[in-house]
Amino acid sequence: MKYYLVTILALMLFGVPAVSSRFGGEVDYVAQIFSQATEQLAAVILSHNPKTVADIKSRYTSPIVQVASINDKSIHNKVRILIVPGHEPNYGGAEYSSLKERDMTVELAQDLAGFLEKDTHYEVFVTRDGNDWSPIFAEYFKNNWQNIIDWQAGSAQDIAHRISSGTVVPPTKTVYHNKAPSNVAYRLYGITKWANENDVDITIHIHFNDAPGHGSRTPGDHTGFAIYIPERQYANSATSKVVAETIFKRLSKYNPVSSLTGESAGIVEDPDLIAIGAHDTADAASMLIEYGYIYEPQFLNAGTRDLAIKDLAFQTYLGLEDFFSAPDAAAVSRAYDTVALPHTWKSVISEKNTQNTDVFALQSALLVDGEYPPYARDLSDCPRTGKLGPCTQTALQQFQKKYSISGETNIVGQRTMQILNTNYGISF
Ligand SMILES: [Zn+2]
Repeated sequence: MKYYLVTILALMLFGVPAVSSRFGGEVDYVAQIFSQATEQLAAVILSHNPKTVADIKSRYTSPIVQVASINDKSIHNKVRILIVPGHEPNYGGAEYSSLKERDMTVELAQDLAGFLEKDTHYEVFVTRDGNDWSPIFAEYFKNNWQNIIDWQAGSAQDIAHRISSGTVVPPTKTVYHNKAPSNVAYRLYGITKWANENDVDITIHIHFNDAPGHGSRTPGDHTGFAIYIPERQYANSATSKVVAETIFKRLSKYNPVSSLTGESAGIVEDPDLIAIGAHDTADAASMLIEYGYIYEPQFLNAGTRDLAIKDLAFQTYLGLEDFFSAPDAAAVSRAYDTVALPHTWKSVISEKNTQNTDVFALQSALLVDGEYPPYARDLSDCPRTGKLGPCTQTALQQFQKKYSISGETNIVGQRTMQILNTNYGISF
C-alpha cells in the first residue's frame, strides 16, 4: 500500500513533502524533494541513460553470452529484471489480521523470479527475502550510503532547475502517498541508483494495497490492482508504459482493476513515487504494481492465498513475455494462462461459502469457458475469491445449462465434476 487518501490537491507543488496520512502505517515512497538540495551540489552531473523499448527488446533477441560477473556490463546481454518486494525485511507495509504485506510481496517476488529464471533470456535480481536484504543490496547500501544521499540531493536540485526554467511542468497529483522515513526513502533511491549503474532493463516493485478507514477486522471498500508508472515527463516514462500495458492486459483478464478513484484507469502516472524514479532518476522501465487489497478473501484465506499470489506472478510473467515475444508467450502459457488450471476436482462442492482451491479453479475454468463473471457483472462485482457465492453459483448454472447438466443446481456434483475434469483437468 502506498497511497491512502485520494484527494485532488490542485496546487500541490511537485516536491512539497506529502502530508502524512492520518491512517498511519507506512508508506511513503514519496520524494521529499527540494528541501534537501543545496547549492554545493550544483556541480553534480546527472548522467541519464534511459532505456528505450528497442534497447530492452534487443537484449532479448541477441545471442546469450554467459558472463561471470554482474559488473561485466559491456558484454552481458540478458534482459536484466530487478524485482523489488515492497517494504523492508521486518518493517513497514499494510497489515490485516495476521497477514503482512511485506511477506506477501516476498512470496509474489519469489514466484515471479521462479517463472522468469526458467527463461534463459532473463537475468533476475530480487532485492530481499523475508529476513534480509540480498547480499548485493546489503553491501551496496553499506558502501554507498553517502553517495546515495548526494545523488538524491543532486537529482532533486536538477529537477528543481528544470521546473524553474520551464522545461518540466509541475504535475498535479491525484493520488496521495504517505511519506517514507528517510532511511527507507534513501534505500529506495539506492535501489534505483544501483539499477542505473548495473544496466537494469526493467524494475518491478511489488505491493499490496490497503484502503483507509476500515477496522482492523473489517475489510475495506476497495478491491483490485493498479500499476503505477513514472509521470510522462520523466525519461523512463514512455518505455515503462509500453511494458506496463502488456502486464495490465494479462492481469486484467483474471483480476479486477482497482475500484479506487485515481487508480481506476489501471495504469496510473505518478511523479513522486521514489520507487519508480521520482525526480526523473530511473533509467530502467519501472513500475510499481499494487496487486490487490490485502483484505481480499483470496488472500485472507490460507487455503487460496498461495495460489492467488502465484497466479498474479504468472500473469505478470506472461505480460513480460508478451512484451518481448508473442510466440514465446504463447509457448509458456500453453493452453492456460492461469496457474489455477489445469485442476483436478475430486470432491463435490456443495456448501455455500466453501472457500478453497477447488472453487478458485472452478471460477477460473468458468471464466475461460465464458460464463464468469455471469451476465452483466464484471470482475469487480465477482472477483475470483475461491469462495462459492452468488457470482459463482450463477455462472455455474450457465455452465450446467450449456453442458445439459441437471439436478446439480448451485453445486458441483458428479456430472459437473466430470465435465470440468474433462475440459479443464488435463495438462496440454
Ligand atoms: Zn506497500
